[in-house]
Amino acid sequence: MDVARNPEMADAAPTPHEPPVIRREDYTPFPWLVPETRLHFDLGLEATRVVSKLTVARNAKAHRVDSIRLNGDGAELASVKVDGEPISDWTMDGDDLIVPLSGDAHEIEIATEIAPSANSQLMGLYASNGMLCTQCEAEGFRRITFYPDRPDVLSTYRVRMEGDAQQFPILLCNGNKETEGALDGGRHFAEWHDPWPKPSYLFAMVAGDLVANSSTFTTMSGRQVELNVWVREGDLPRTEHAMESLKKSMQWDEEVFGREYDLDLFNIVAVSDFNMGAMENKGLNVFNTKYVLADPDTATDADFDAIEGVIAHEYFHNWSGNRVTCRDWFQLSLKEGFTVLRDQLFSQDMQGEAVKRIEDVRILRSAQFPEDSGPLAHPIRPDSYREISNFYTATVYNKGAEVIRMMRSMAGPKAFRQATDLYFDRHDGEAATCEDFVKAMEDGAGLDLSQFRLWYSQAGTPKVDVTLSHEGDIATLTLRQTVPATPGQPAKLPMPIPLRIALFDREKGTHAGEQLIVIDRAEKVLSFEGFAAAPVLSINRGYTAPVAIERHVPREDLVFLAAQDDDSFARYEAMQELVVGHLVAALGDGLSDSDREAGQEAIASAFGAIIADEALDDSMRGELMMLPSQTYLMEQMLVADPGRIHVERESLKAWLGNRFLSQLEALHDRVSAVPYSMESAARGARKVKTQALVYLAAAAPEATAERAWDQFNAADNMTDRQGALMVLAGLEGVDRTNALLDFYNRYQGNELVIDKWFTLQALSLHPDALAHVKALAKHKDFTLRNPNRVRSLYMAFAGNPHAFHVASGEGYRVLADLILALDPINPQTAARFVPALGRWRRMEPGRAALMRTELERIAAAETLSRDTFEQVTRSLG
Ligand code: ZN
Repeated sequence: MDVARNPEMADAAPTPHEPPVIRREDYTPFPWLVPETRLHFDLGLEATRVVSKLTVARNAKAHRVDSIRLNGDGAELASVKVDGEPISDWTMDGDDLIVPLSGDAHEIEIATEIAPSANSQLMGLYASNGMLCTQCEAEGFRRITFYPDRPDVLSTYRVRMEGDAQQFPILLCNGNKETEGALDGGRHFAEWHDPWPKPSYLFAMVAGDLVANSSTFTTMSGRQVELNVWVREGDLPRTEHAMESLKKSMQWDEEVFGREYDLDLFNIVAVSDFNMGAMENKGLNVFNTKYVLADPDTATDADFDAIEGVIAHEYFHNWSGNRVTCRDWFQLSLKEGFTVLRDQLFSQDMQGEAVKRIEDVRILRSAQFPEDSGPLAHPIRPDSYREISNFYTATVYNKGAEVIRMMRSMAGPKAFRQATDLYFDRHDGEAATCEDFVKAMEDGAGLDLSQFRLWYSQAGTPKVDVTLSHEGDIATLTLRQTVPATPGQPAKLPMPIPLRIALFDREKGTHAGEQLIVIDRAEKVLSFEGFAAAPVLSINRGYTAPVAIERHVPREDLVFLAAQDDDSFARYEAMQELVVGHLVAALGDGLSDSDREAGQEAIASAFGAIIADEALDDSMRGELMMLPSQTYLMEQMLVADPGRIHVERESLKAWLGNRFLSQLEALHDRVSAVPYSMESAARGARKVKTQALVYLAAAAPEATAERAWDQFNAADNMTDRQGALMVLAGLEGVDRTNALLDFYNRYQGNELVIDKWFTLQALSLHPDALAHVKALAKHKDFTLRNPNRVRSLYMAFAGNPHAFHVASGEGYRVLADLILALDPINPQTAARFVPALGRWRRMEPGRAALMRTELERIAAAETLSRDTFEQVTRSLG
């Protein structure tokens, strides 16, 4: 892809150095093996000295080269020795250190100095709240010392940490602690050994004043593992849920995947300044505090679930990621897609399958579908990149999980388990590829996946066109698939698409059993006998394939399914389709009064059934009541007008609220009487409580402000309090002001809750939301140095269509200003905001031009990080 630069600018400003493109097809094995790595750290916040000793030997499987390339990035080189002797004939190639080596085995010793306090990128070794911690995936280890920083170089690590005993009373690293002791001058040390060979990206080290919630777990073979969740002193009371989640994860992985933990110690550390959710470093997982700390007063039910899911995710990486790692970063989905599937299956078992599946599909559709249909579309196994951090995407993670889930659906759970056993068996201790995974699936589950491999190489969400016809006693199902063109991939081949289906007898309301069909051609026609009347089709039950279904069926069929499909996902789906169909029609050529009324009535009859259905548990009711997100609606339109979508969606909400006013009030009263507990019925009640409030607020803002204020004041938990505040933040009046102030004062000093306070305002339906965002950026608690805080304001804002997409383009300007200000501080986080501006091709012309202007303004900056440069140039296309 060529860079779109303004030719007139060519002379005026120097062209920024264009980062090179790395290609999957260029992979070659590293010429050296590194059996052992010894590291010595002399720790300090301002300056840390590092000495590394690598034993290296020629790799018989690679071409002979008489030098070794050690990657670097910002660490100051103090000295280089080979076999104990200082050398001076090393050279630099860009940031990399090239050391000449003539023999077959050597010891290389390198001394560097780094400045953790000055590290605002949060990659490598950095300071956070007075403690030191590391983040090495993907290419952060090279910021600590010069090293073959690539995932196919596996080494065992011995690490000695030395530092001030008061400043850093706790010294943690991967593996097991072998010795520790006091040193002169108030200093102390610890020596750690990790017996499992690992790539550098799994290295981790933490030094600071921490306390632990400690416990033990006995593994399936009877070994006792010490577990610790390390946090700052005051946070200890909020660690119990994380610890319980860890134990459940360990147990579940033994039971469901036969995977046992392999060290005597498992440490988790919570850090406030963190670029992502968490990191699976061997035996020393480092977490964003957001995914560790919880109690009912400060964390919502959703927060509790997210913690359980992320703890599981990182723990599961110990096998899918660490014991079997990636050959190169193009294989990222090998560990991430598989681990996301594993954490999804775990959460389904913990929280209930149906609701979890709906939530996961909602995430896929709102985060991955837009990626797949925009300028940043890429296959789950990308072919090229400039900056790998940009490929930690919903495509690699979530679509990657869906692709493996399809293999599981086709194999069945038993054969799938045989295949994963074979995979772990075959590749334990190796750096593997996606191809290795697929081969193990074929051999272990007895599947032929030759055509299925296209799911790894083709980007774009397949569309499946469905028609059901009926004649005599035969129902005929015609399925046509198309995979849309994506950047660099103009033409696509048909892929195998597994769909679980059922045909309902519309009189009896039952079906004769479901079946799995696989569409493996552009068109497939299937006939079903024995239907005296046309059946109602339920398709992609459980969401077996990550595709967009386009079906041409009467509206009554959707009402039927929304009210009574026995597959919860299909029931949810029918409700979504009803609403999407109606809104898209309204936004298209407009609706006649009678069509509008018919559409609304159909939705009302399904909605009425959902709120009245006594057989339905409240958790599912809460899901079914949710309207499709505005992002998903925009996705349904070739060219979207966010302003009109917002108005239509809000007016439908208000219409439903009015239509069911008394029922919704009664519903809110009923669930408000359920006392707080973590039981699923009580959690369901809380979900419905806020959902009911959302509709009531749209229909009767003033009366509902009072109701929300009561909910806010009566709340004995964060779920109810945040739900009420969310609704109030969208309304006018003193209740809004008072609630926001009360919330702020109550939680002042609690970073994670203050993040929520920023988010609620940035996401609100209030007409002045954009002005509020601009004011909040100047609030004393706002800072560009903490990624959670930045995201709490600006990710929320970028996800709030009516604020971000104001017709003047001011929202785009605000986001571009943020990207430009954040890029020099934390490029990885800055680049994550670019995709919001990259959607310009799918916007109406006025907004499209304004979005492009902002992208061009960013592209014209004198210096840009590799991260932001790549995202902006791809977005401009
Ligand atoms: Zn992961």
